[in-house]
Amino acid sequence: MKIALDIGHVNHSGAAGLYGLEEHATAGIIATHLQLLLRKAGHIANIFDFPTLGNDEELARVAKAINDGYYDLSISLHFDSASSPAPHGAHVCYVSEKGKVVAQCVANHLAALLPGRAETIQRRPGLYILKHTVPPAILCECGFGTNPKDADLLLRQPDAISRAIAKGIADYTFQITNYELRITN
Ligand SMILES: [Zn+2]
Repeated sequence: MKIALDIGHVNHSGAAGLYGLEEHATAGIIATHLQLLLRKAGHIANIFDFPTLGNDEELARVAKAINDGYYDLSISLHFDSASSPAPHGAHVCYVSEKGKVVAQCVANHLAALLPGRAETIQRRPGLYILKHTVPPAILCECGFGTNPKDADLLLRQPDAISRAIAKGIADYTFQITNYELRITN
């Protein structure tokens, strides 16, 4: 598959977490690990990041690059924040029905690593990047930077988060391969 990795936000415009965690920088580290894992699994994986643009311009540029590049899958990387330290856990957002299938595959692993959300997948039609990209698209909220346990993982083991997402993509790849085999038989 040809997979687009979108680093959430531009420099210092996303969420701030404990221990100096900054959303764009953290998402960038997760994206770099994830790119390596996906390439090892035989995928084409490219990172999209325009860190010095304005947020709206950045979103439009990333969506255009993903659509112009005929990607099979789009993955946006983020973390959540809250005004209190209690909220924790990861969830995966989607808009399309195909996106929902990917979201469930990824959430199975990501929410096991970062538990706490009652709904581990959520349909979010208001999210620009999900609405304006042609391929199945998901947006991973990789826990809360404001929760001590989640922040510790984001800071010390971003590679574990990337591995969880890569496992979900492997499950999704298996599912669609099976489906394609079924319809050709
Ligand atoms: Zn974000």
